[in-house]
Amino acid sequence: MNAMSQAPAIPAYLPQGNECALFEMAQKNGLPLLLKGPTGCGKTRFVEHMAAATGRKLYTVACHDDLSAADLIGRYLLKGGETEWVDGPLTRAVREGAICYLDEVVEARKDVTVVLHPLTDNRRTLVIDRTGEELKAPDGFMLVASYNPGYQNILKRLKPSTRQRFLSISFDFPPEKTEIAVVAAESGLEEARVAPLVRLAAKIRSLSGMDLEEGVSTRLLVYAATLIARGMAVPAALEAAVIEPLSDDEDTKSALRDLVAVIY
Ligand code: ADP
Repeated sequence: MNAMSQAPAIPAYLPQGNECALFEMAQKNGLPLLLKGPTGCGKTRFVEHMAAATGRKLYTVACHDDLSAADLIGRYLLKGGETEWVDGPLTRAVREGAICYLDEVVEARKDVTVVLHPLTDNRRTLVIDRTGEELKAPDGFMLVASYNPGYQNILKRLKPSTRQRFLSISFDFPPEKTEIAVVAAESGLEEARVAPLVRLAAKIRSLSGMDLEEGVSTRLLVYAATLIARGMAVPAALEAAVIEPLSDDEDTKSALRDLVAVIY
């Protein structure tokens, strides 16, 4: 490092409650942490912030329905005629004492839970069948997972035997004041112009009759505010960043436009 180099910036995160203290407790005591909450409410940003604030390397894995244990642990790959073992992100995190964040863990294949169980109880061990290794996780290693309980898919719920291995925090969209501050800081739009966006979001989120899978996320509000801050007219920004992303159904979109008209 030369004298001019600086520590990497810590991603900004405005807490909603005691989640930062709980994260640090979990980290110090080697306990895994589960973050529950709707998409776009700040879970990933929270983990990025805490990893940077505590000086830990972070491995993030976006889980999907094809993701298997081998994708996390590693596999033998053919390199120049030879087979060579290559660690997956979970194994690297265990070896290095880093944080591994499994985003939307319920999406992953079932064999992933078999790997997670010995790692998330007092054994703190990663078993690598293919190489015969059993890695004991060092103190610095931490497993964080997230899932979205809002998707009412019975097949995609976390089993009690898995979820009862994690400390858990429920996330939701932040209270109005916090959300205004977050969206203003992220987008550069002044708070007075962010306030009606957050009011609109509250209205959309409170509608149960509409054919919406989920309410508008803080992420979408940041997008809308960014477009408005760069000079786009409010209706066009809301169309692209709120209405179209929320629904494909013409009746629902037109009902959303009516809500926009009430506020603007
Ligand atoms: P999730 O992981 O819950 O789907 P993200 O962490 O990706 O959501 O959040 C989406 C965006 O919302 C972030 O990139 C950030 O701009 C903003 N955001 C949401 N909550 C916060 C917060 N509490 N502090 C700072 N930014 C936030």
